[in-house]
Amino acid sequence: MSLLLCVATVALWIGSYRSVRTAYSLGPEREIWAIRGQIQYFRWYQGWYSGDLQDDWRYLGFGYSRKNFLFVCVPIWFLTFLTILPPARWLWLRRGENRRISEGQCAVCGYDLRATPDRCPECGTILAKGA
Ligand SMILES: [Zn+2]
Repeated sequence: MSLLLCVATVALWIGSYRSVRTAYSLGPEREIWAIRGQIQYFRWYQGWYSGDLQDDWRYLGFGYSRKNFLFVCVPIWFLTFLTILPPARWLWLRRGENRRISEGQCAVCGYDLRATPDRCPECGTILAKGA
């Protein structure tokens, strides 16, 4: 599921460079664009007063601006990074689990199970040995 989301963001990332822009309208005054490796969110306000409410901030592809409209942009690599974390963590945990089992240790706590192969005396995990 999360891996699918990760693939989707990578596809969006590549797509944002290939096409001129991909715009998703979220209403009459809101739009999301995928452009040059960034997700950009625009919101226009009716009768926006651009007097004292002025902000402009950019950093590493992140951006925030509040001049004639609200503008927020997030780099897609950041989204890809976020979506890649859960599957990467899962793989990492799976790797540790498999290594422990192959070394005769409890998959949950790592306790040496060579003396008690059916049940972990440390954490109580019942092992499906001989299945
Ligand atoms: Zn255990």
